[in-house]
Amino acid sequence: MRAADDSHEPAARRAPLQVSFATYYPAPTFHPGRGAIVADTNQSVVYTGPGQVEVQELEFPKLLLAEQDNRPLEHGVILRVVATNICGSDQHMVRGRTTAPAGPTLGHEITGEVIQTGRDVEFIRQGDLVSVPFNIACGRCRNCKERNTGVCENVNPARDGAAYGYVDMGGWKGGQANYVTVPYADWNLLKFPDRDQAMEKITDLAMLSDIFPTGYHGAYTAGVGTGSTVYVAGAGPVGLACATSCQLLGAAVTIVGDMNAQRLRQAASFGCETIDLSQHDNVSEQIEQILGVPEVDAAVDCVGFEARGHGADGSQVEAPATVLNSLMTVTRSAGRLGIPGLYVTGDPGAADEEAKVGQLGIRIGLGWAKSHSFTTGQCPVMRYNRQLMMAILHDKVQIARNVNATVIPLDEAPQGYQEFDKGAARKYVLDPNQMIQFA
Ligand code: NAD
Ligand code: ZN
Repeated sequence: MRAADDSHEPAARRAPLQVSFATYYPAPTFHPGRGAIVADTNQSVVYTGPGQVEVQELEFPKLLLAEQDNRPLEHGVILRVVATNICGSDQHMVRGRTTAPAGPTLGHEITGEVIQTGRDVEFIRQGDLVSVPFNIACGRCRNCKERNTGVCENVNPARDGAAYGYVDMGGWKGGQANYVTVPYADWNLLKFPDRDQAMEKITDLAMLSDIFPTGYHGAYTAGVGTGSTVYVAGAGPVGLACATSCQLLGAAVTIVGDMNAQRLRQAASFGCETIDLSQHDNVSEQIEQILGVPEVDAAVDCVGFEARGHGADGSQVEAPATVLNSLMTVTRSAGRLGIPGLYVTGDPGAADEEAKVGQLGIRIGLGWAKSHSFTTGQCPVMRYNRQLMMAILHDKVQIARNVNATVIPLDEAPQGYQEFDKGAARKYVLDPNQMIQFA
């Protein structure tokens, strides 16, 4: 693993690009006329049971989805993965807090290089460097046409919405691997305009597959704009990406709350105000000390259902409705709440029977009385990723620095998962083909 680095300077920034990829990583060979790739295996991160992940040697991906009756994927591509991040959403699964059985491959935050295109791919080409929205979407259904790609109707037989390497999300293989298949490639992929320029900012661009759009979606749907005051619950990578987005959108004051001192320091490092919830149980009072009034214009839940309570004692225990209730308390009337934090329909590890089916003690009467609006669900990444890519490429935002992107090899994924679970103030970026290391 790369040594801990207090400068928060992502590794990829420090070394200039010296070699072409092809020098070190020739593409797998194709059988002429058959299109098959001579590469038998694919190292992948696999969930093997609560608290455990392993790197296993699995089959090379195909343009076919065995989990959905061998669904043909001629509209898809195979990517050599350049960067693939560990997410708090993965941790819900790995902690055994979803209905995921052991066995699936993990990873929905994928940036890659196209090495094979299916018969029906028209515009994406071999060699393109691309960001993959974590939502899998067909581009043909009503929801996709209305830009709600987080709940595509056609890619998961069990429910609307799909993702790579995630429970109940259609059985698509995860991208924490050397190679991965991406369906509906012309629709799903965001191509970076210039390969060398992209590799220079690869740890920033790696955040476009999920947390940067997700944090931005939280802020945007909470109505954050010029001069807003905002409370962001959670200083994990999504909270830090949301705080970054609040600043990008022009917030006057961005306040981040968490009980993890290291993560709060990370938020303070780029100009956020912070509230340490392991010390304080009254968020309104803390906001009043910062703003002079006990309310904010907008608030965002970047925590989800594994939320803990507030204060020295409260923060020792889980209290899944805490964030939603405190957001309603601190948001002004007619304000909006962005809720990217994940809530599930099945949580075997929940403390009570109701929480086991996602039924929480939410004080909806308070939100109703204050005329609050709520936006929930998977972030429709495609709504935001191109604009955020432009902000990165033109140096308007330093997302990798703000989330403390930390590059590690694929075989160190188990340690990365463990450290992230303990609350490291880092966003782990796996480098499965050593393309970042040598960039
Ligand atoms: P994370 O687990 O690293 O961070 C969560 C943080 O919340 C932790 O630092 C924890 O200490 C803190 N926390 C716990 N209780 C709190 C409370 N009451 N108030 C404030 N902070 C509290 O996870 P992450 O990667 O930052 O992701 C955050 C959430 O966003 C997760 O639920 C994840 O599944 C979800 N997510 C959703 C989407 C989407 O599309 N909607 C996409 C990505 C992630
Ligand atoms: Zn994610």
